Amino acid sequence: MRECFEIRDTDAGGRIGQLSVPRADITVETPALLPVINPNIDTISPRRLAEEFGAEILITNSYIIYGTDDVRERALEDGLHEMFEFPGAIVTDSGSFQLAEYGEIDVTTEEILEFQHAIGSDIGTPVDIPTPPDVSRERAEDELETTQERLELAETVETGEMLVNAPVQGSTYPDLREAAGRHADATALDVFPVGAVVPLMNEYRYDDVVDVVAGAKRGLGADAPVHLFGAGHPMMFALGVAMGCDLFDSAAYALYARDDRYLTVRGTRHLEDLDYLPCSCPICTDFSPDELRMLEDDRREEELAAHNLHVTFAEIRRIKQAIRAGNLLELVEGRARSHPTMLDGYRALLDHAGQLERTDPVSKGTFFYTSHESARRPEVIRHHRRLERLSVPDSLFLTEGEPASRETFDESWRVEPPFGPFPRALSRSYPLTAEVPGRTDRSALRAAADGVRRLVETNPETAVTLGHRGWPESVLDRVPDRVALVDLTDE
Ligand SMILES: [Zn+2]
Repeated sequence: MRECFEIRDTDAGGRIGQLSVPRADITVETPALLPVINPNIDTISPRRLAEEFGAEILITNSYIIYGTDDVRERALEDGLHEMFEFPGAIVTDSGSFQLAEYGEIDVTTEEILEFQHAIGSDIGTPVDIPTPPDVSRERAEDELETTQERLELAETVETGEMLVNAPVQGSTYPDLREAAGRHADATALDVFPVGAVVPLMNEYRYDDVVDVVAGAKRGLGADAPVHLFGAGHPMMFALGVAMGCDLFDSAAYALYARDDRYLTVRGTRHLEDLDYLPCSCPICTDFSPDELRMLEDDRREEELAAHNLHVTFAEIRRIKQAIRAGNLLELVEGRARSHPTMLDGYRALLDHAGQLERTDPVSKGTFFYTSHESARRPEVIRHHRRLERLSVPDSLFLTEGEPASRETFDESWRVEPPFGPFPRALSRSYPLTAEVPGRTDRSALRAAADGVRRLVETNPETAVTLGHRGWPESVLDRVPDRVALVDLTDE
């Protein structure tokens, strides 16, 4: 059991957790948003972040502080908490991002960790190598080796109560990400950022982001707190959380505001294009789009940044509530409809449904079937696995209609798309209480047929008859030949 992180609630791969940050003497509830503070630019002051937005944790770049003489002196003298007037936890990044952008930096892992400790950081970061996507495997492996050496070095640096990040790299090779996760997990380090995903997000490759995170998660222990480094757009938080990420950092709220971009959970809008403000935060209730446009540049940037933060924090709260209520995947499904690339992300997430199933609670509220992707949710996979363990009689009628008489069959089981067959006694248990649309789609029928196949293949001795309501040939093809078929719509 990892001491600094405790999981309280789960839904799919998502969880509500408690991250204990001993040096700040606080516990941060996750999923959490870390606003990024540029030590040289104060769009919204850290104090205001805490008081007005409820920020419990923020992140700043120790390399920028290290390289800016007057800021470095102040940070060393007063400490980050006093300098920023921020009562919560402060995470510091190392300069790896600058390394990726500019090719070199003039600080070592020991120096930057000692510096981070000296300025009062609560969670520090070694200098890892953020390998970009799509590089050769050889380069990804070489750079990963260097990152792993740095993590081992970081373990030996005396950092007192400061927690230390162990970034997980490996480019777009899921098996390298998995190996990197396993190595990082075996160190004595504390928090696990999945690194170098920003280029993927900039190109809207949410499906690749999901595969990369899934790889890292397979290597990391279930109790490892995971930070999706550089993911600041609220549109993708639900997806990231469902995959098992706990921490997100946003520079986007300020960067986007600088060029008049307005964040929503369904994507980014340009202030110029808005006739109405689709938000109920204090800024959007106080101003009309015209009034915002007429503000002085600095003021407009500040108001837009505040709106962007309100939207971002609201989405984190919405996600936590969805985990508590057990409908996180319905939220992801809704968000997936905002952009085709988000839909790709959701479909990629469902490719890992077996992995998500391990942490998905056995019982929740009600399963809502809201898109044909719902047929691939972890609950369906779990039900199909369960079919292998149920005991069956010699002759069995699986039916979408009324049960048959005892003289004809030993038992009649219900068939419900997308789950497939189950004994009537299970009708009231999750997820078989699902709300499904009356107009069933092909994916749900296919999943139901796969359930029938699973049951029949596990029980070769049982004589099975399937009563279906007009399933098409392409669906019936998935059912083994030895199953007798009755089309109930013919009756
Ligand atoms: Zn707003």
